[in-house]
Amino acid sequence: MNVDKLMIELERRNPGETEYLQAVRDVLESIEEVYSDHPHFESASIIERLTEPDRILTFKVAWTDDEGRVRVNRGWRIQFNNAIGPYKGGLRFHASVNLSILKSLGFEQIFKNSLTSLPMGGAMGGADFDPKGKSSSEIMRFCQSYMLELWKLIGPETDVPAGDIGVGGREIGYLFGMYKKLSGEHAGVMTGKGLHWGGSLIRPEGGGYGVVYFVRQMLEQAGMELAGKKVAISGFGTMAWGVARKATEMGARVISLSGPDGYVYVQDGLTPAHIDYMLELRISNEDIVKPFSYEFEDAEYRPNRKPWELPCDIAIPCATQNELNEQDAAQLIQNGCLCVCEGANRPCTSEAVHLFQKAGLLFAPGKAANAGGVAASGLEMTQNAMKYSWTREEVDQRLSLIMQNIHASCARYGTREDGYVDYVRGANIAGFLKVAGAMLDQGVV
Ligand code: GLU
Repeated sequence: MNVDKLMIELERRNPGETEYLQAVRDVLESIEEVYSDHPHFESASIIERLTEPDRILTFKVAWTDDEGRVRVNRGWRIQFNNAIGPYKGGLRFHASVNLSILKSLGFEQIFKNSLTSLPMGGAMGGADFDPKGKSSSEIMRFCQSYMLELWKLIGPETDVPAGDIGVGGREIGYLFGMYKKLSGEHAGVMTGKGLHWGGSLIRPEGGGYGVVYFVRQMLEQAGMELAGKKVAISGFGTMAWGVARKATEMGARVISLSGPDGYVYVQDGLTPAHIDYMLELRISNEDIVKPFSYEFEDAEYRPNRKPWELPCDIAIPCATQNELNEQDAAQLIQNGCLCVCEGANRPCTSEAVHLFQKAGLLFAPGKAANAGGVAASGLEMTQNAMKYSWTREEVDQRLSLIMQNIHASCARYGTREDGYVDYVRGANIAGFLKVAGAMLDQGVV
């Protein structure tokens, strides 16, 4: 395989799609060797087929705001690859959403889902709709209009969307309600559903819990433990909440949270009261963490700064892509950070990742570490198919086991001769081999 040559062709076919091209390059660089070791990958053009999504639906989403004005947004669903199971992946509603970002996330999702060992293909979707400041009725009308197009593409055996940034339990409810109305079926067509209508226990926490289970494995492998460690996290959404809950429960001290306008520093670590308050912030559709400093005396608000300046043992970026750059990485390394684990999807720039690895830090990419979210979704699909619900403990146990297995796969394919585990390489190779094998088995389709 010639990565540069493949990339030139991809750039020609996908001009200006920076995020997507970067996501592909990262995977290609990791798998170059195994690809060349198996000539049948090349002869079946596996890479060329993997980098071209099966289909992309782009559609208009027209809706009426509370003032009676008609508004128009653009919606997408990218069905990337279904070699190992129905298309599966989230929907993101955010002003920054564009085709390149969604393709990068959809591409990553193929490997992430493969790593979970559950039968799920890769997909991603969303809209350039900004939920900030919108009323619940506006959100509902937007979701209903979005589903008017999406419902034709999805189904429990076809494509099963879920949440992502800007799409939580409330939005899944509105989307599902419209799907049910249009199709006349109460089917397991989405995950992240409410507990009383097909949802699974531990689905909301799944992503965050999974990240902490993964960190526990990384530390264990390196002869360390989580209890007593100082953890800096960014974000304030579902992922940050789940991480804060589980890390605190396991004896770590979580010292920060962040929003786009700055971060909150809690020297002695978040308490259950702080963590519960995170839920209130989300419900009020608030996108900044400043209110923490009004609510809690021990929460210091530091505007327009990032938590990566804090001395910490573990950093877990849980906000959004490219939020942690080279300077942030250098600062963390200088402050003696031991481990960086991606909670969000691609929060660290490629330059930051290289720095971490060069400095010998433990570094885990989101496609391995945050796979607990989609794994819990997979477990929700299983329960829907059985028309049954597992207890909290049953789901949590399965999730913990899945994360242990993902860690083992990364270590299997990513351990270097000197013993350092390159989790990026390990995750890419393990995720890729399974999908590529399935594609070979299924012929040219
Ligand atoms: N958006 C989440 C992710 O990045 C969840 C996807 C899902 O549950 O389908 O993995």
